[in-house]
Amino acid sequence: MFISWQRSPCPEWCVIDHAEEDHPDDRAHRDAGREIPVRLRVSDFSGSQATEHLREERLVLGRWQRDGESRTWYFLGNDHGVALELSEDSARRVAEELARVLDPDPR
Ligand SMILES: [Zn+2]
Repeated sequence: MFISWQRSPCPEWCVIDHAEEDHPDDRAHRDAGREIPVRLRVSDFSGSQATEHLREERLVLGRWQRDGESRTWYFLGNDHGVALELSEDSARRVAEELARVLDPDPR
């Protein structure tokens, strides 16, 4: 379907059903995202006291690209204040360093 505002074709990973009436802020290509169950250590501060507890969460790892732009952003976050949006080279550096930290002596 032809959308008058669309300046670039959907990347192969885009799952959005774009519409003519999409708000300009929503004119972006997005993948389906992947949910990742995680356990977070959370600190709460009450006065000068800090308490720590564990919280089970689901983070979403996804990618998106504003229509008409070539840069793809990699998102990791949730709806509760956790949000990272990384460029592709940044996402690769984080993944590589994390792999080195988790498995410093691969065989
Ligand atoms: Zn699209």
